[in-house]
Parts: sequence; C-alpha cells; structure tokens
Amino acid sequence: MASIVYYGSPRQARWEAKETLPAKLDQILTRLNLRERVKGETVAIKLHLGNNMGYSTIHPVFVRRVVEAVKEGGGHPFITDLSWDTRASETRGYTAETLGCPIYPTAGINDRYSYAIERLYKGITHWKVGGMIHDASFLVNFAHAKGHPSCGYGGAVKNLALGCMITETRRAMHDVNHYNPYWFPEKCPDEETRRKIIAACPFGALVEDKNQAGGIHLHYEPCNQCLRCLKVAPPGSLKINPENFYAFQEACAISTAVTLSTFEPDKAVHLVLATQITPLCDCFGFTSMPILPDAGIFGSDDIVAVEQAVLDVTGQSKLIEENIPTTMEVHCREGHPFAQLHGPYKDPYKITEYTEALGLGSRKYELVDVLPVEKFARPSLGYVSAS
Ligand code: SF4
Repeated sequence: MASIVYYGSPRQARWEAKETLPAKLDQILTRLNLRERVKGETVAIKLHLGNNMGYSTIHPVFVRRVVEAVKEGGGHPFITDLSWDTRASETRGYTAETLGCPIYPTAGINDRYSYAIERLYKGITHWKVGGMIHDASFLVNFAHAKGHPSCGYGGAVKNLALGCMITETRRAMHDVNHYNPYWFPEKCPDEETRRKIIAACPFGALVEDKNQAGGIHLHYEPCNQCLRCLKVAPPGSLKINPENFYAFQEACAISTAVTLSTFEPDKAVHLVLATQITPLCDCFGFTSMPILPDAGIFGSDDIVAVEQAVLDVTGQSKLIEENIPTTMEVHCREGHPFAQLHGPYKDPYKITEYTEALGLGSRKYELVDVLPVEKFARPSLGYVSAS
C-alpha cells in the first residue's frame, strides 16, 4: 500500500505569506495530526543545528512552528542534536528563546549518556543511542535535504542514523566502508607503482595507510569512482567496489531502525526541508552554493516514503554546475543528480532500498500537495499605452 507524503512546493502564485514554505509546513503538521498525537508526550525534535559558520541548516522560523504545534497539542518538546552541534548553537540563531523550548545534547554534555542495542554488522556489535532520544516518547525527525560525501544524499534517514548515535558508534559506521578488503599488496609489490596509484587520484582520496607499511588507504568521502587509479594499478591490486560504498548506507539503515525501535509505532513523524541544497552535509561547518533548485517541504509518518519522495522531486532538476566547488567534478550524466556529483556507487536511492528491506516503510507513496500552485494570468494593472 502506498504511504502518504504531504508536500509543499517552494513556488507561489501570489505575493502572500500563506503560500510560502513556513505556512505550508503548518498545513503539513495539521494533515499529520501532530497536535492530536502529542498530548502528554515528551517530544524530541531531532534537528541538525550545524556548527561553526554554516547557515543552510533549518531556519528557526520553521523550527518554532513545529515547537508551537507540539505545545498547542499538550506535548512537551525539546530540541536535540549532537553535543558538538548544540554547543554554541546560539551563534547560528538556535536558542531556547528563539525556538520556544530547551535544547539538549542527544547523549549529554560529554556524549556518554546512551543505551546500547545489540545488532551485528561488519564489525559493529552495539549501537549506542543517545539517552535523550531513547527517553523521549515521541519523535519529530526534522531534516534538511542536501548532498553527502559518504552516500550522495543526506535527509531524514541520515538525520537519525548519525544524529542519534554517540561518537563511538558514528565512527564505527564511517569505518564500515573499509570492512571488505580493497587493497591487495601482493599484487603490487613495487613501491614506485604504488606511489603512482596514489598520485593518480586528483581528489586526494588515496593515501599511504598509516597502519600498514606498503598499504593504501582509500578515503571514501572524496572518491567519486572516476576509476583513474585503476588505470595505473596492476590488475587486482586495488578494488573500487560498490559493496564497500553501499556498506555505509546499509549501516545508516540499521542505525535508523535501531533508533526508531525505541519509539512505539505511530510515535514518530518525519519532515524534510529541501532548500539551500548544498553539495556536502551540514557537518562541515560552512555553507556552499546550492547545487539544485529548492524542492520544497515534505512530511510523512513513513520515513522511507518521505526519502523516496524527496529524491524523486529533487531528481527532476538538473545540477547547477556553475555552483559546484571547483575541486569536485561531474563525471557521469546518468542517475540522480547527487550520484552524478558523488559517483554512481553513492546512489542515493540505496538508502530507501535498505530501509524498506528492514521494514521501516514503503517506497510506494502518494504525494499530496497541501497547496497546489495556482496558474492564472496576472490581472491587468490598468496602464494605458503611451502610443
Ligand atoms: S576512483 Fe577516482 S576518485 Fe576514487 S580513488 Fe580512484 S582516482 Fe580517486
């Protein structure tokens, strides 16, 4: 059965506030029956507050509307994010005063308050969920859509997958790319050739392995799978395999399933704001130029459906190539624009495949536009031609 995804387009017809995104967010919250569902609940509103001088995270104007809706419904909201992002969040406009409720680090001020949930995946045995997430009874997952160097795209899943786990688990998740071996030194005993392989990468993705003499370490984030390195590497010595790349997405799906398992069914809603869509995630502490046009705001009870809808809508646009950082390249013209930029093995749709396979929702959805943009001719202003 198709899940419902409520949608607000960034376009407007009239010059009126009621046709803009904050007002459309209000309509989405109403359609999701948020007020009716949060009475007496302790509501964690999971945001990414960014850090340093980033300004593309969700504007307080949007956050405040969610907070007020929760309060109107009789819920007890708090904003939460990783401790290194809540620290100094006031420098980016996020305070209890501007948002209307307290801001708490997900795992306490020292990132140690967590609950371990056992699940085996590529060397990870326990997933440590932030205690403030675990202790809440209702979740509003409010994510910003943007590109991501590890998996092409970051949205609703990524906001939970990495944003609700403590540092130890997040590090382990980033390491799963390396779980399956990709460098086979016995196939390249020649030091000179190994140096040429490293030098062949124009993005600095290949480096000496500091833990293994004669080894090569691949930084998966800057690698766009251009395969220049394989033109230099002796056959079989270096593998640029999809499985290594997909592992991070699968880990994100598992992490999200773990976090959502701490909430009763129907006690979570997922919102995604797709504006200021930058090439990289908001963790970097800066904001780059947008690489896609604004796509709007989305809301659903189904995290898989909302991700699928965001990807389908953003996938209808072309990359704004003049806005891409000059140290990145578009080397393929097929697939989703995020994959065109970050490489085919960072296909953003993998995340919806993995999360659906884990039973978190459905990739089938019905998109319900909460305020379709009217098309009408501008009325005459009544000017009289001078001729
Ligand atoms: S595939 Fe391209 S980007 Fe990736 S390591 Fe090789 S040369 Fe670098």
